[in-house]
Amino acid sequence: MTTTRFQSAAAEDTAAGQPKLHIVTFGCQMNKYDSLLVEGKFKGSGYATTDEMSEADVILFNTCSVRDHAEERTFSWLGELKQAKQDNPDLVIGVMGCMAQRVGEEIFRRAGHVDIVAGTRKFQHMSELVDQLRERRADPERYRAKDLRLVATGTDEEVEFERGAMNYSGGQHAYLAVMRGCDLNCTYCIVPTTRGRVQSKAMDEIIAEARWMVSQGAKVITLLGQTVNSYGEDFPKPAAGEPAGSGRQGRPSLGDVLRQLQQIDGLVRVRMITMHPAYLTRDLAEAVRDCDKVDRFLPIPAQSGSDDILRAMKRGYTTELYRKRVEMLREIVPDVELGSDWIVGFPGESDADFDATETFLEEIGFVLNYVFKYDPRPTTHSAEELSDDIETAVKKERNQRLLRKSEQVATLRLGRYVGQTVQVFVEDLSDRKEGVVHGRSIHGIPVSFAGDADLIGREASVVIQQASAYGMHGVLADAN
Ligand code: SAM
Ligand code: SF4
Repeated sequence: MTTTRFQSAAAEDTAAGQPKLHIVTFGCQMNKYDSLLVEGKFKGSGYATTDEMSEADVILFNTCSVRDHAEERTFSWLGELKQAKQDNPDLVIGVMGCMAQRVGEEIFRRAGHVDIVAGTRKFQHMSELVDQLRERRADPERYRAKDLRLVATGTDEEVEFERGAMNYSGGQHAYLAVMRGCDLNCTYCIVPTTRGRVQSKAMDEIIAEARWMVSQGAKVITLLGQTVNSYGEDFPKPAAGEPAGSGRQGRPSLGDVLRQLQQIDGLVRVRMITMHPAYLTRDLAEAVRDCDKVDRFLPIPAQSGSDDILRAMKRGYTTELYRKRVEMLREIVPDVELGSDWIVGFPGESDADFDATETFLEEIGFVLNYVFKYDPRPTTHSAEELSDDIETAVKKERNQRLLRKSEQVATLRLGRYVGQTVQVFVEDLSDRKEGVVHGRSIHGIPVSFAGDADLIGREASVVIQQASAYGMHGVLADAN
């Protein structure tokens, strides 16, 4: 998961007097998706979006808590708006997402000019909260300063948006959350606290949302979830006589979702982030094999290659179990590529533990790796119970070493594609080299080749000529 910041979706023509919204999004793809949902709802109540923060009447921050750095960046952005709020007291500033959930009203203490804080199970009401604030501001006789700060961080609700009424604004690449929250308890992780318990979306709603996106121009859909492959585990098992899915005890599974998405005309690719090794089932592997729209790239974070550290992290698997699951997966989908997240410098990580991680990355042959330095997050088990005893310099050094190992492994794996023809979904024009287009292969690997804008949004067969650790270059053989 990344901590990228995304600006509001493209601004559009606005009618005079129409209020304007700007959303700054930090964190993962789930946040990007949630920001689009919020934008859609605001648009439905008469707002336009703007790329210019200085033009906005409402500025929202969709935030991340996974590492401290992400929270500090949000506070620094908020700090920059203090003057803007003084110059324009009508401005509304809201904070939503994981940091809003974790920090709650404390946000007002560090950033007194924030008006609204809405957590991960309440942000769907952001436009109503803005209306409520505006009404209160308009009635100073009745409402005092303390009434002009709204907080909604309860976890009693399911997140629901009526998207059918919205204009889809996600372009050819759409995100779709099939589940939210996490029922696991990795000792370092803040997510179960900020995102709450697992809530899978009903299968018919997923398919309806996917059809709606495709009808409005989406070609690639990335299915999102903290442990996306545990989809359906929280549903009750079907009663006798009810249709059975392929999941545990007849529950619907992610494999069932993939098989249904495969049927949607106009949908070209399906991707998924992020998986947990414990839920890597034969059913899922067979669905990937049977559905040619599904990327042969699966992100299945291992986090560490040391069994002692995995146990201390309470990941719920050993390296042996991970290895067995990957063997099963590669038997069924021989050309699958894998990605992983890793935490280095977890409490007690010895040189031998770290060496085991390097060896495991190489053994499994992960082609894409995100490496994070352990960061004790307040209230997590590891922060409260274990000493953050690995020096910063050692964490940095291990981080660098693992990234170098990742480069070596990726260079070798991508080198295998030289001379082969791969299927590429073309995403955009290169902004550095004229006459070159970028896309991603069915194995999730970035590919560039000479081509023009006509190819964007189409699948192309590309003969690979060169490969590095970060992508491949080739020549167009054929386009669909
Ligand atoms: N659900 C996914 C899984 O189980 O692997 C990952 C979700 S987590 C939000 C994204 C990544 O952030 C994790 O895979 C982990 O590598 C990293 N991460 C989470 N907590 C962290 C912490 N306290 N310190 C450093 N990295 C952390
Ligand atoms: Fe966090 Fe573990 Fe859940 Fe992933 S599986 S979100 S790392 S608690």
